[in-house]
Amino acid sequence: MVAPADRPLLASRLAGIPPTIFSEMSALAVRTGAVNLGQGFPDVDGPASVVERAVGALREGANQYAPGIGVPALRQAIVRHQQRHHGIELDPDTEVCVTTGATEGIAAALLALVEPGDEVVVLEPSYDSYDAMIAMAGGVRRGVTLRAPDFRPDPDELRAAITPRTRMILLNTPHNPTGTVLTREELQSVADVAAEHDLLVVTDEVYEHLVFDDALSSEGHVPLASLPGMRERTLTLSSVGKSWSFTGWKVGWATGPAPLVAAVLAAKQWLTFTSGSPLQPAVAHALDHEPDWPLELARDLQARRDLLLDGLRSVGLAPRTSEGTYFTVTDVEHLGWEDGRAFSLGVAERAGVVPIPLQGFYAGDPAAGRHLVRWAFCKTGEVITEGIERLASADLAR
Ligand code: PMP
Repeated sequence: MVAPADRPLLASRLAGIPPTIFSEMSALAVRTGAVNLGQGFPDVDGPASVVERAVGALREGANQYAPGIGVPALRQAIVRHQQRHHGIELDPDTEVCVTTGATEGIAAALLALVEPGDEVVVLEPSYDSYDAMIAMAGGVRRGVTLRAPDFRPDPDELRAAITPRTRMILLNTPHNPTGTVLTREELQSVADVAAEHDLLVVTDEVYEHLVFDDALSSEGHVPLASLPGMRERTLTLSSVGKSWSFTGWKVGWATGPAPLVAAVLAAKQWLTFTSGSPLQPAVAHALDHEPDWPLELARDLQARRDLLLDGLRSVGLAPRTSEGTYFTVTDVEHLGWEDGRAFSLGVAERAGVVPIPLQGFYAGDPAAGRHLVRWAFCKTGEVITEGIERLASADLAR
């Protein structure tokens, strides 16, 4: 017996949260030998010099607890990174905190800043850890729907989502899963609403460097914290995972005004206490000594995006030209499937290719995401080509 019979095993704050679709679809890909165009992890690791630095740190004895806030060398490197790429000045001792991936930054921020009953506004489709963590913090999620085919936020819908209970806007740009990069104008509408209603903003910018040169927003990625007046109310999250292709390292950072960073630390100390010691000097090395690596990755990714977009078009799908991230989205309704999940399972079986259905990302407006699926192009050209060939030789219609 694992639990008394008179109550459910799982605590109610977790019971309503479905298992993450990424684990389910990746397990399906492994089980069926399918090409995994679903989960967003690259097939090729980041720079060798960074791996060598991690090996060196392990050998040099960086094997005991790091300070909770992060090792000084990494915090200083994060400050230089924010300065160099975004012109944002930070104090390494009070305005930077190392996290166990951006995921821990999201968790810590929500647990620290959201009271039960507080409302958190998210762009929808929203990365699934947001919904889970809002629920675990006792918050109430309010979605602002990004609709196919262009997936842009409507400033009026954003305004309409704000109530007297709103505590926070939890933003994500470049946006997973749509590939939308918010323009300065769109960000300004977020900033205006936040200032007007005195809201906190947590902005997840893990794809900050993965923006393509034909982006709709010709400026590329604009950090929300760089807008006038936003620095004081914005907590910015990022990570080494996407920018330097080390998704398995789970080293991220939270930056912003000292009170917001202190709040993250107040929760983080009870979540993980500290993040992995030997990886921190290696991430500092990536930020300082491989500063252009993410920009080259973005150029290379753009070519792979185009390979995937052309391939998807050739099999009768109409992908969106993503402006950033690892992903593109297609609508599969015209193929006759009842929803994106049925399509994804059907395509895994018929073609041996696994995408990610998006209906779970549209918790507040399921109809808007029902027939959408996400495809990842952070894979090698060979893997993308293999995936497209498999799709081409299968019957994709229901
Ligand atoms: N935010 C977004 C939007 C993501 O796509 C991901 C990774 N899939 C994360 C956060 C998690 O980042 P990390 O691996 O650094 O925890």
